[in-house]
Amino acid sequence: MSFADLVPDLAARLPGLRGRLAANQPLADITWLRVGGPAQVLFTPADAADLAYFLAHIAADLPVTVIGLGSNLLVRDGGMPGVVIRLGRGFAQIAAEPGHRIRAGAAVPDAKLARAAAEAGIAGLAFYRGIPGAIGGALRMNAGAHGRETRDVLVEARAVDRTGAIHVLPLSDMKLSYRHSGVPAEWIFIEALFQGSAGDPAAILAEMDEVANYREANQPIRERTGGSTFKNPPGSSAWKLIDAAGCRGLRVGGAKVSEMHCNFLINDRNASAEDIERLGETVRARVKSHSGTTLDWEIIRIGVPREGNPTGEALVR
Ligand SMILES: Cc1cc2nc3c(=O)[nH]c(=O)nc-3n(C[C@H](O)[C@H](O)[C@H](O)COP(=O)(O)OP(=O)(O)OC[C@H]3O[C@@H](n4cnc5c(N)ncnc54)[C@H](O)[C@@H]3O)c2cc1C
Repeated sequence: MSFADLVPDLAARLPGLRGRLAANQPLADITWLRVGGPAQVLFTPADAADLAYFLAHIAADLPVTVIGLGSNLLVRDGGMPGVVIRLGRGFAQIAAEPGHRIRAGAAVPDAKLARAAAEAGIAGLAFYRGIPGAIGGALRMNAGAHGRETRDVLVEARAVDRTGAIHVLPLSDMKLSYRHSGVPAEWIFIEALFQGSAGDPAAILAEMDEVANYREANQPIRERTGGSTFKNPPGSSAWKLIDAAGCRGLRVGGAKVSEMHCNFLINDRNASAEDIERLGETVRARVKSHSGTTLDWEIIRIGVPREGNPTGEALVR
């Protein structure tokens, strides 16, 4: 399937644009689950000024969605109408600052931030070693692991709003809670400043190795997955509820519930996005009827289904 090509109109409207616009770009290639349709337009801004220029000059009703490394995304089979923005090289700067601080662009992979902090003797960021996203996604999701999360280490973030204005957000304005930020959904994070403490590089690198080894042993990190599918309900674990409801190994089409960690869904046999979403909704329905608990998706589902097909809970009705 493909969308109408908006690139010629956008290029005409934005003569000063320096980044790359491309029509009908497959998103399956750049997301972990490897499913879903194309982006109507994929825009890779050259830098923050280019991104701001783009946002300031496009039509107010053109849908805009930003993605990071696609490790927490399920793109539906019909693709993403409008513009998908992916930050690249122009947002990949990383630099240690005085006072055990480190500043990173939104496209820096979390693991790279952990390594740079370790090498600069900044402790407290080793947990990022195991999270396969980039800084923008970590800010939006308040990503965390091993007892720490982004809000424990963040000083401030910078974001561009839909009019192209840049905002500096201190931690208190980020409204971070469990796998959520209350910053308006259309704001795009471009940079973050993190606070660590003094540490010995060798000890931090050893801690990062422990994080990596734990992942290797306990999570299907070499599979096509979106990580934890559902948030842990207060006071309990999603995986335990899923296991108790008999869903370990459950399959829909090319998608299955991981045997190793049953809060992970896996695309192991050429699944469609619909297979994965239907599997997730089947798990939710079974957990609801077994334990009475409603699981909330942690994976962010974006885009439209194949024409006429249902989405969400309607997939299991
Ligand atoms: C194997 C595996 C293990 C995982 N383990 C963990 C874990 O331990 N802890 C954890 O918290 N998560 C984990 N995840 C989930 C995922 O890695 C995190 O949610 C990560 O922060 C997502 O970052 P991303 O760059 O991939 O974002 P994407 O998946 O591309 O996007 C996720 C959300 O962030 C938004 N977003 C992305 N970039 C920006 C930006 N620049 N500005 C504004 N919004 C943006 C997107 O619009 C979307 O809503 C895991 C995933 C996998 C596949």
